[in-house]
Amino acid sequence: MIPFRDFKVDISEEHEILRSTIKDFCESEVTKYVEEGELKGEIPAELKAKVVKLGLYGLNAKPELGGQGGDLLSQAIASEELSRVWTSFSTHLFINWLYIHAVQTYGSGRIAEKYVPPVAKGQKIGAFANTEPGAGSDVAGIKTYAKKVGNEYVINGRKIFISNGGIADYIVVSARTSPPEEGKRWKGISLFIVEKEQVKIISRIDTVGLRASNTAELSFEDAEVPEENMIGEEGMGFKHTLEAFDYSRVVVAAQGVGLAQAALEKMITYSMSRTAFDRKIAEFQLIQEKVAESIAEVAYARLLTYWAANLIMKGNMDDGIPAASIAKYVATDVANRVAQRAENVMGGYGVSKGGAERYLRDAQILMTYEGTNDIQKLTVARTIYRKLGLRI
Ligand SMILES: Cc1cc2nc3c(=O)[nH]c(=O)nc-3n(C[C@H](O)[C@H](O)[C@H](O)COP(=O)(O)OP(=O)(O)OC[C@H]3O[C@@H](n4cnc5c(N)ncnc54)[C@H](O)[C@@H]3O)c2cc1C
Repeated sequence: MIPFRDFKVDISEEHEILRSTIKDFCESEVTKYVEEGELKGEIPAELKAKVVKLGLYGLNAKPELGGQGGDLLSQAIASEELSRVWTSFSTHLFINWLYIHAVQTYGSGRIAEKYVPPVAKGQKIGAFANTEPGAGSDVAGIKTYAKKVGNEYVINGRKIFISNGGIADYIVVSARTSPPEEGKRWKGISLFIVEKEQVKIISRIDTVGLRASNTAELSFEDAEVPEENMIGEEGMGFKHTLEAFDYSRVVVAAQGVGLAQAALEKMITYSMSRTAFDRKIAEFQLIQEKVAESIAEVAYARLLTYWAANLIMKGNMDDGIPAASIAKYVATDVANRVAQRAENVMGGYGVSKGGAERYLRDAQILMTYEGTNDIQKLTVARTIYRKLGLRI
């Protein structure tokens, strides 16, 4: 009955070196861009150039494709440290990693050689477009259609809430290549790499949080895509998409950990400097309770995230898939709660610009994207019941 047996969390010396490199970089180079970037709704080109030098765009790309060959734990640690300083920026980067993951895992050698290195080197921007106006959680419900015409596919449809959507050069797009089958509606979806010249940007979406991450609605109107740009097996795009999300969910969980860590640090620092009734507010036990609960929650969110990364890296997908869902919903819920407490501890300053309000706004999106937290809970319960033979 016990669903999980492997609880080992391995973090190597190299991972810790990566963490301290990114942490130092974020504190010395990223912090100064956050306020203006959030206001303007973009990641400044100057910062992007610095990140290119550090090799972060290609963190997970294979070395032969111009990347660092970083594993999932490296991406989680990088995502955590980036989100501690600027979550919008970490989203911009991890969407490139998601794109790279899909192209180098499912693309043929020639396609990966063409479409991974420019993104890994930060010369081009990648995105992954699955969600549609009529289908988000219901991945198999997409309507975008790709019709084979000669040596090309012609794609028509709309995608919404696409991160990096308005700035991407290459987009992995899911589209139906055959109608849904009775009882197997997930079949018949395929993945394509579409270049920006074939994409129409309908609008930038104004979201409550991650304000510097470019979220857009896109349309494909007779978009012409060479047949070799189909990645993965024809008709199996649903499976490829979910598999790619198993990885990116761990990275989103890590965003939750980093955001929660930042909010925790802020509430502690503030409580040590703020005076009320002739005392530091840190002396009030109700403040201490918030700090203690937040410390505990950030610690377990971090452990769950590293644990999920470890299971997936070992190839134990039976446990890794539900673990990634657990990490995603727990860590992003924790981010939301800790951000809320930080706001509370900081009183009026918490809900004002520069207080803790950005953490709370960003946390709303972490709980929503890469599969809502409710959907993660369904995945966890279903996986366990199915292991026990109950088909639900
Ligand atoms: C800022 C931002 C960036 C994003 N970036 C991307 C991106 O880069 N690429 C991309 O493809 N998508 C992206 N998304 C889309 C995101 O993944 C979806 O919004 C999310 O999966 C939910 O889909 P939906 O919005 O259509 O909500 P719906 O699926 O309509 O869900 C609405 C509500 O119903 C609940 N629900 C749905 N089905 C069930 C069920 N079976 N059982 C119980 N409850 C259910 C959900 O939990 C939710 O509460 C992004 C979204 C945002 C907000």
